[in-house]
Amino acid sequence: MQHFTKTRIAPTPSGYLHLGNALSFALTAALARKTGAKILLRIDDLDHQRINLSYVQDIFDTLNFLDIPWDEGPRDVQEYQSTWSQMHRIGLYKDALQQLADQRDVFACQCSRSQLQGGIYPGTCRNLSLPLDTPDTTWRLYTDERELIIKTLNDGSITIHLFDEMKDFIVKKKDDYPAYQLASLVDDIHFGVDLVVRGEDLYPSTIAQHYLADVLDAGVFKNITFHHHPLLMESGDKKLSKSAGATSIKYLRDQGKTAGEVYTEIGRILGVGKDLRSF
Ligand SMILES: [Zn+2]
Repeated sequence: MQHFTKTRIAPTPSGYLHLGNALSFALTAALARKTGAKILLRIDDLDHQRINLSYVQDIFDTLNFLDIPWDEGPRDVQEYQSTWSQMHRIGLYKDALQQLADQRDVFACQCSRSQLQGGIYPGTCRNLSLPLDTPDTTWRLYTDERELIIKTLNDGSITIHLFDEMKDFIVKKKDDYPAYQLASLVDDIHFGVDLVVRGEDLYPSTIAQHYLADVLDAGVFKNITFHHHPLLMESGDKKLSKSAGATSIKYLRDQGKTAGEVYTEIGRILGVGKDLRSF
């Protein structure tokens, strides 16, 4: 097994964490143990309209309940607010956005979600040359078909290009905050992360972030190793959602379940029994 310096657990406090989050955290912790990596707790809170402090508290309660350790990051809501919120790193994100603007790698887009065609951006504003400071616009990256290389565990790599759904993906939102792809990349570089463990639903994002790293000439990011794990599915191949009450860890805690019982339940859904590490 390779050795790594740092990995991260990066929940968004927009709902109560569920069994799928618990699986992702447990796998991250297991890989950290195996590879010598420290764990950073990063709370992704830029989507401020959906953020709620009771969900932040739930992150700490869940990690403590599941006995998942972390070496760096906030220990409680107060430390999160005073030091670790992404709001404290807005300047870093703005620098990256400014670099993209200076390089003329972005364009302003006034389209709404409903103007996407089957989830794919048709390039409507690509050649409109709207000023970048036009109110109520997003910034999109001009993307092409370039090949990207993603490092994977055990010294492997994947050569791939951007998925169609990520064409000209958004780097700045209409509310002027950076989009997830940009903030996540900037944070991973800022904190010196070299191992990212995440669900395979984020695979298109991983590719988009490599694209962004290429444009920003952020070679450090390309050295990060990525591991994408399968998701926990409810019956009928439905992704677990944060709104699904019965699968929230808080609900299970309130029902008096033990951490062991929660892990057993995850193993049962996965069909791997109790040994998550075989997953
Ligand atoms: Zn547009």
